[in-house]
Amino acid sequence: MTVSHWQADGTQPTREVDFLVIGAGLAGCAAAYFAAQAGRDVVITEARDIALGASGRNAGFIITGLDSYYHLSVEKYGEAVTREMWDISKQTIAYWKEFAHQCDVPIDPCGSMLLAESEAEAQDLERAARALDAAGYDHQFYDYDPLNRGYFAALEQSSDAATQPVKLVQGVFGLSGAELVANNEVYAIHQDKPDVVTVESRLYHFQARHVMICTNAYSLTLYDFFADKIIPTRAQCLVTEPLPQGPILNTMGYSNYGYMYYRDTFDGRLLVGGARHLHKAAEHGTLEDKANKDVHNALDAYLQKYFPDVSVPVARRWSGIMGFTPDGLPIVGRLPDCPNVGFAVGFNGHGLALSAATVERAVDMLLNGTPVGAVDVKRLL
Ligand SMILES: Cc1cc2nc3c(=O)[nH]c(=O)nc-3n(C[C@H](O)[C@H](O)[C@H](O)COP(=O)(O)OP(=O)(O)OC[C@H]3O[C@@H](n4cnc5c(N)ncnc54)[C@H](O)[C@@H]3O)c2cc1C
Repeated sequence: MTVSHWQADGTQPTREVDFLVIGAGLAGCAAAYFAAQAGRDVVITEARDIALGASGRNAGFIITGLDSYYHLSVEKYGEAVTREMWDISKQTIAYWKEFAHQCDVPIDPCGSMLLAESEAEAQDLERAARALDAAGYDHQFYDYDPLNRGYFAALEQSSDAATQPVKLVQGVFGLSGAELVANNEVYAIHQDKPDVVTVESRLYHFQARHVMICTNAYSLTLYDFFADKIIPTRAQCLVTEPLPQGPILNTMGYSNYGYMYYRDTFDGRLLVGGARHLHKAAEHGTLEDKANKDVHNALDAYLQKYFPDVSVPVARRWSGIMGFTPDGLPIVGRLPDCPNVGFAVGFNGHGLALSAATVERAVDMLLNGTPVGAVDVKRLL
């Protein structure tokens, strides 16, 4: 992000802050919550307003694990890291459920179904089931399609849940007790003294004792350090008009290795998202909020193929920007030249699955120097 000479004219008042969070999405609000729990006085500064980034645009799947099946994750990261990430995910889900109940946020413990679109994927799902068995994680494998919609197999995760993500972010923000400074983008961060970080923003020059960056996909526009670590990646969703027959699923569906997904909404519509794998050139490496026609044509075709019983039109189409990392795991650490500035970004399209427990580690690292394990950015340095 650039700022002009006229905008950054140095007239912004100085404001002292104990713990400053940058970004008011799921991660930022969870960071505010954990910092407040640790006794810090927290302010969140947000370029737009609460939940206007990916956190308010996602599908609301609180789903266990990473974006690849368990055995494929073991092949990629090894058993120990995969298990650690699954545990981070389980802990994150437990937090969201607890927070949602505390502040009356809609949450449906409907579980999820990973669904095979081909024989080959069915074999992969079976391998995933065996690997989950060996690791001791609950699931149920079906060698047929329990939804009766043309899939080849399914793997059910009964502890997964569906939520209303904007309400969840607002709820977590409320629980944090933090102050929000909205419409206040950060331009620059530097630390010239041992315990004071200067954060230049549109309205204030903050002098903060600690800073936590939770800007996910946008991080590369904030600080060069993220230029080779965060790949902004667009995702698309649609919802139909209300279904006359009422809800048609009692689960969330996740097919083609997670590239396609759907669920009932709380107001009786069907939500369908995904298909970015079909249009990578357009959807990867962009920060532009735009409903991509080609991707939406693919979502429409999916809807027709797997939901011939849905005859109502599409009511709304939208996009959001996710933050991907080169190896598919979130990154947590401190900025190299600013020891009092931590970050927790790069949720790889799985912020509802991973962010709360990741951010909890990030806050503990920043305040107490506690190691953060598999999400440590050091693996990419
Ligand atoms: C269409 C779609 C569907 C998805 N579905 C799911 C799903 O079902 N389940 C799941 O787990 N995940 C899903 N995701 C991913 C999930 O939404 C993200 O992983 C999660 O929201 C990331 O949260 P965050 O707080 O890190 O980022 P964000 O919500 O993007 O928040 C970052 C915030 O930082 C602010 N910001 C940026 N730059 C600055 C600056 N310079 N100064 C101040 N503020 C700044 C932004 O305005 C933004 O509000 C989906 C994403 C999309 C787009």
